[in-house]
This record gives sequence, C-alpha cells and structure tokens, in this order.
Amino acid sequence: MPSAETRREELKAVWRQAQTCTKCPQLASTRTKVVFGSGNADADLMFVGEAPGANEDKQGLPFVGQAGRLLDTLLGEIGSSRADVFVVNVLKCRPPGNRDPLPGEIDACQDYLFRQLELIEPSVVCTLGNFATKLLRADPGTGITRLHGREEIRRIGPRTVRLYPLYHPAAALYTPSMLDVLRTDFHRIPELLAQPAPEQPEPVAEEVELVVPEPELVVEVVEPEPEPHPAQLGLF
Ligand code: URA
Repeated sequence: MPSAETRREELKAVWRQAQTCTKCPQLASTRTKVVFGSGNADADLMFVGEAPGANEDKQGLPFVGQAGRLLDTLLGEIGSSRADVFVVNVLKCRPPGNRDPLPGEIDACQDYLFRQLELIEPSVVCTLGNFATKLLRADPGTGITRLHGREEIRRIGPRTVRLYPLYHPAAALYTPSMLDVLRTDFHRIPELLAQPAPEQPEPVAEEVELVVPEPELVVEVVEPEPEPHPAQLGLF
C-alpha cells in the first residue's frame, strides 16, 4: 500500500494535470480557475458536491460561499473542520450561469474524482445532493430524497467506501425542514467513522513488460509545470 506521502505527491500530479484540462471545451473557456478540491490528502472523510459556483470559480477552492459556511458550521458541530476532511465536486469547473452539469461533462470529469478517491483513501464518502449521489451509486433513477441518511458499502472504481448521501447544503439553506434533516444526518458521521474501514478489493497485479531500450538521441523541450496554488495545496 503506498504511503500517505507518495499518494499526496501523486495527487499533486493529478492536480497539475487538471489545471490545463480542456476535456469540456465550453467549461474550459468560461472558467476562471479549476476547482480541484482541498483539504487533508489523507482524510478518512470526503465530501463530494456538485460543481463550483461563482465564488469557488474565482478562488479556485470548493465550498467557499454560503453553502460552504453551512458546511463549516456542520463540521464544527461534529468536532471537525476543513483541515480534517477532503472536499471535492463532481465537476472541477463552473458551469456557466450555475446551470446543472451535463451528462457529457460528468463523464469527462469523473476520472479525476475516481483518482482522488483512490489516492486519498477515505473510508466514509458523503455525497452532497443528487448529482454526486447518482454518479457514485451509478443509479440515476434513485434520488437524494429517498437515499439521504442511509449509509451503504459501495465499490467505487478501485476503492470500497462507506457511502453516505446527504442533502446538498445549498438546498438546505433555503428550506428549514431540509436543514433539520441535513443536520440530523450529519451528526451521524462520527458514528460511521468509528466503524471498521470497509475491506478493500485485492489490487490487480500489474503486468510487467520487459522492454530493451534502443539507444536514441532525444532532444526534449521541457515546459515548466504550474506550481500548485498555495491556498489549494496548503492543506494537502
Ligand atoms: N456547491 C457545490 O456543489 N460545490 C461547491 O463547491 C459550491 C457550491
């Protein structure tokens, strides 16, 4: 199993790759910053939201607006903070006008999320709202109203996690009854974290290919790689 430091270095490499992503040409042309995610790169608890909004797009950090403040409050109520958890979104770029993510955008972006899950190795993953819940459960027909507050063990790509769907904080901001439900569900997170981490699938053995290198003269032009923004990487 790779060490936390090795996984963090790998996560930085994925961060660098995401900074120049153009898989969604519209989002790439309208975004200000790619919002990769932030927090503790070795966190047991991860939150997956929908997509960056205007504030997140400006700052390059997830959940920094009103919904983010509610997330901070709820984390405080369970004795936790952003520095303990990792927060990401289904989409790393803001959809213009805060429209819903398109199916093609979710498809194009999902590998970043799966890599984040693989490298951070959380044991509990809270999906915030419908988009993250439907993607990570691979079941577009069942929504958050039925699923919130019900934990289940799920294999997501290479990782098995305790998946725990929650209402999206932005939705709860405008509906007091939903906020009560979100708070009640949220307060069960410590109980889920205290349970044994789900068993992981056996790693697939990599095929080893023997390649005899041919001598050749290579002239390589190396472009400098962007350095992680301190605020984004400060915590990971
Ligand atoms: N809503 C989200 O889903 N993600 C953010 O980062 C902010 C608001």
